[in-house]
Amino acid sequence: MAIDRHVIGNWKMNIPADGVENFVRDLRGVRWSDACRLSIAPPYPFIAEARDRAAELRLPLSFAAQNCSDHASGAYTGEVSASMIALAGGSMVIVGHSERREIYGEDDELVGLKLRAAVEAGLIPVLCVGESMEIRERDGVAGFLEQQLVRALGGLSFSERNLLIAYEPIWAIGTGRNASGDMVAETAGWIRRTLASMRPGLDELPLLYGGSVTEMNARELMREADVDGFLVGGASLEPEKVKAIYEACASGR
Ligand code: PEP
Repeated sequence: MAIDRHVIGNWKMNIPADGVENFVRDLRGVRWSDACRLSIAPPYPFIAEARDRAAELRLPLSFAAQNCSDHASGAYTGEVSASMIALAGGSMVIVGHSERREIYGEDDELVGLKLRAAVEAGLIPVLCVGESMEIRERDGVAGFLEQQLVRALGGLSFSERNLLIAYEPIWAIGTGRNASGDMVAETAGWIRRTLASMRPGLDELPLLYGGSVTEMNARELMREADVDGFLVGGASLEPEKVKAIYEACASGR
């Protein structure tokens, strides 16, 4: 069965309250589906530890980094390259998260370079796009997202197997205020139309929603939002919530 759904947990600069080992152990009770992949994105130093614990327990988990350098190697103090992430056991990398854009000033051009570096190292990038409340209030969402997508992806060649898109409205991240299913479905439609206009078939890339997804709203969002899964921040630090969100995603629309 092909994997066509994804749940990715972004721990940000946090580790779970009970530690990495217990977190992974607590995922033993998940009802795994061959159609849905669960990935965890710990801070860099914990990727290998989480990968080793999952391997010991034979859990079908994948691992992601939350960022990568746009360079392959060299004198870039404090940076981590995509190939180093792969060596540590990561198979994916989140690129263009709004916290990177807003706090560290990453623009679409840099995001595009990071996407290229990730693909060259054999990682699957998860490209985050999303608007502020100010842009939504002036009906500018479709144009803004088109610009983010075209600027970051222009000139790069992707297949539906080596890139994921995450729609993450900035106003919904970490606020407890998720976008409604209808709103996500409408926005996902705009994103898919933009992707199709860039290259036929690109609209088949997996499209995730992120922004205050919890064990309480995942099932309803999955049913209404027309997405292929979720990028989860806060709730991804608690194994019981991860389990519930994953099972809601796996059991479908
Ligand atoms: C995120 O940081 O990508 C995110 C979606 O966070 P939260 O789920 O906490 O809103």
